[in-house]
Amino acid sequence: MGAPEYNQPISGMDMPRFADIATFMRLPLTRDPTGLDIALAGVPWDGGTTNRPGARHGPREIRNMSTLMRRVHPQSRIAPYRICQVADVGDTPVNPVDVMDTLGRIEGFFAAIHAAGAVPLSAGGDHLVTLPIMRAIARHRPVGMVHFDAHSDTNDSYFGGHRFTHGTPFRRAVEEGLLDPKRTIQIGIRGSLYDADDNDFARASGMRVVTIEEYFDLGPDRAIAEARRVAGDGPTYISFDVDSLDPAYAPGTGTPEIGGYSTYEAQKMLRGLQGLDLIGGDVVEVSPPFDPSGNTAIVGATMMFEILCILADARQRRANVRASPSSSMAVSPTWMRRPAKST
Ligand code: MN
Ligand code: MN
Repeated sequence: MGAPEYNQPISGMDMPRFADIATFMRLPLTRDPTGLDIALAGVPWDGGTTNRPGARHGPREIRNMSTLMRRVHPQSRIAPYRICQVADVGDTPVNPVDVMDTLGRIEGFFAAIHAAGAVPLSAGGDHLVTLPIMRAIARHRPVGMVHFDAHSDTNDSYFGGHRFTHGTPFRRAVEEGLLDPKRTIQIGIRGSLYDADDNDFARASGMRVVTIEEYFDLGPDRAIAEARRVAGDGPTYISFDVDSLDPAYAPGTGTPEIGGYSTYEAQKMLRGLQGLDLIGGDVVEVSPPFDPSGNTAIVGATMMFEILCILADARQRRANVRASPSSSMAVSPTWMRRPAKST
């Protein structure tokens, strides 16, 4: 059996990176997810935003900045396009004037990706988009989640009973049985609250909430050891809200909160998730109208590449486990192996 022929990004040696049509990572655009291992999708929608909008423009700018990404991860040496079939599958359909209609459209788009056997990696969009993605990929069994965010996104409702905003997706996901709160960790929670009990649902449901104060006590290595303990070896989704970062690094977002972690710390944490059974991910809340330098879109594209590499590695591990049932899935990368700290 010959090595499969996978899609390759257009090389910057063949076509300069500033030229031609911008797709995610310079991969081919295909509307059909059949045969893909990983589908890169845009969700151009910010109808769940309660304050400063603009994340609907995120996918286009992230595509543009993703042309900076090369092929091989600098630290893990994972080469995603050597081990997986990856493509840009375009943007989901949306209805910019109807929340509920849009949730259905997004779910349908990701259901087709899931039915094709591909794993989704998406660029938002505001954080509500994660709910219809989970509806598409987690109906048959709840998933765990490693959630990078300044906000818990587990509020109940806004504006007198409106239950679907970017402040509510993970409460809905728990209620709908899509998200296992006991296998969920939120890292970086901070910022002023509406009420002192804002994050009570997250804790009461069993989520592990790592406030920014605890994060800076732990540091990225121990924070991620805790994430690995919480997520365990079950299917796990990564949701990366750029407002988890300090706005010095990612100002172009709707709800910035000062005092966050750095881009490098976030990269280190994402790399530390290698070896988990990762089944999808997203990067959300990049809002180009608040991002005149374009830096936040570069951050978004780079975090997508970080997640792509560990998703590709997880995909390959699952294939190896199927080929050799005795091998184990949940193996830490050797460079970060250390005794797990139990709490
Ligand atoms: Mn969020
Ligand atoms: Mn947030």
